Amino acid sequence: IQPADTLVHAFRRSAAEAPDRVCLAYFDGRLGYREVDELSDSVAGHLAARGLARGDRVAVVLQNSPLFVIALLGAWKAGATVVPVNPMHKSAEVAHVLRDGEVTALICSDRAWETYLRDTAADSPVRIVLTGCELDFQTRGDTRVLAFERLPQAPDADDLTAVARAGHQAPEGRAAGPADIALISYTSGTSGAPKGATNTHGNIMHNAERQRTGLRLPDAPVYYALAPLFHITGMVCQLAACLNSAGTLVLTYRFDAGVVLEAFAEHRPHYTVGPSTAFMALAAHPACTRDHFASFAHISSGGAPLPPALVEKFRAGFGPYIRNGYGLTECTAPCASVPAQLEAPVDPASGTLAVGVPGPDTVVRIVDDQGVEAPFGEQGEIVVRGPQVVPGYWRLPEATAETFPDGELRTGDIGFMDEQGWLYVVDRKKDMINASGFKVWPREVEDVLYTHPAVREAAVVGVPDGYRGETVRAYISLRPGAEADAGTLAAYCKDRLAAYKYPRQVEILPDLPKTATGKILRRELRSRAHDGR
Ligand code: ATP
Repeated sequence: IQPADTLVHAFRRSAAEAPDRVCLAYFDGRLGYREVDELSDSVAGHLAARGLARGDRVAVVLQNSPLFVIALLGAWKAGATVVPVNPMHKSAEVAHVLRDGEVTALICSDRAWETYLRDTAADSPVRIVLTGCELDFQTRGDTRVLAFERLPQAPDADDLTAVARAGHQAPEGRAAGPADIALISYTSGTSGAPKGATNTHGNIMHNAERQRTGLRLPDAPVYYALAPLFHITGMVCQLAACLNSAGTLVLTYRFDAGVVLEAFAEHRPHYTVGPSTAFMALAAHPACTRDHFASFAHISSGGAPLPPALVEKFRAGFGPYIRNGYGLTECTAPCASVPAQLEAPVDPASGTLAVGVPGPDTVVRIVDDQGVEAPFGEQGEIVVRGPQVVPGYWRLPEATAETFPDGELRTGDIGFMDEQGWLYVVDRKKDMINASGFKVWPREVEDVLYTHPAVREAAVVGVPDGYRGETVRAYISLRPGAEADAGTLAAYCKDRLAAYKYPRQVEILPDLPKTATGKILRRELRSRAHDGR
């Protein structure tokens, strides 16, 4: 793989090749490649004029809108490192990121600035603020309307739209190289305090190029951004891959199943990627039909377990296969995936749903607690070495040494590999349940629950038990209109799993708690179980 040095280089190449092609589509708006190039140049010129130096950190706190892409490219063209921040985070989390990342410039929506970010940023190094208006959709009765009226421009911030349209030139001499840090991606914290993974431009471009050459999408591909751009999967597999292929990126602010289906019908995308929960929500939507998926050449699920029952239901109900991919923030999204040339997204030898095979130039190994390589088929920790693995965590030498010994990423995931090199992910090491001395992996139990027709979402955790040490507890949300009680679901699992594995406790909730990227938060369910709520 011979990628461009940075996404800015790749984007400029795409803009030169296809200046008039639609780069970004957002509800009724369209922006061509030349326009996005000029608008982001202008943001870069402004940031440099306001004193932003090469290597400074710029936080971008925006949903999926053209402003996100313009802010990101603008900050990179000014030579900065970008810190993407989830706009749904609470003040304390954002304050931590601004201080820990020593962020000097902040780009956000004017609403977020007015409602909480001004106070949050008060004790931080932030001294340049750009705010803009993102259109959001709201449902009023049966109609969906675009809302978020423009607020009056805050006196202590510059107007992002006006800055982008001011026609400033991008500063000279700021070009980054592949080894420079492009992003500090704070891990979403499904397990512990956020740490900033330092994704380099080279890390991003390796995966963006791998997608361009490996996915078999048509020329001028249309990407639909199902995953949020502030998360590494959305950033790399959607935004970077799309701009690197001179494609069109369709954005619709944030996930809403009805809006997604309308966007599929209007834009006829070729590719999307999201967590499995997003596909569950689409499949459960009454308007969802086969035709919504007719244009897709490839659909990926990544960043969270993909239940085999969902893949089957989706294939039978709507046509396409959902294809698995495995990755972490620390390896800049995927490091293994199912090859696009295979019709069915399964390990051909076993016919089962593996996460795929390691990508080019990537070595995935399975090791035991002493770091000794495990034989084929045996479970151990998954470790990864490759051009997408980050050099470490931002200013955390001890955590870096622990997670990246000799530059190899210790994922904290348990898995195994078969002789043909297909990788299987069992579960997260820290989620293992110890029931009467037996190992129970929550995913195995969840995969059984997902085969029950009434189950929409399932999450399994261990809870303390005086007799067994820990016992298995399942949290379930049901499909719309479906009926099942806790006893039926427990009995269903008992018929299909060993006695120590089946959930002796089942609780049905209207919805399961999730991160902004759609991952089910087992950690939150575990504390709910511990608190006896
Ligand atoms: P934390 O904050 O605890 O590091 P996170 O969920 O915020 O976790 P991410 O980098 O977003 O961090 O997610 C990476 C994790 O997602 C992997 O370590 C793995 O447990 C899980 N994961 C990713 N892809 C898959 C897959 N295809 N199948 C199963 N699990 C997956």
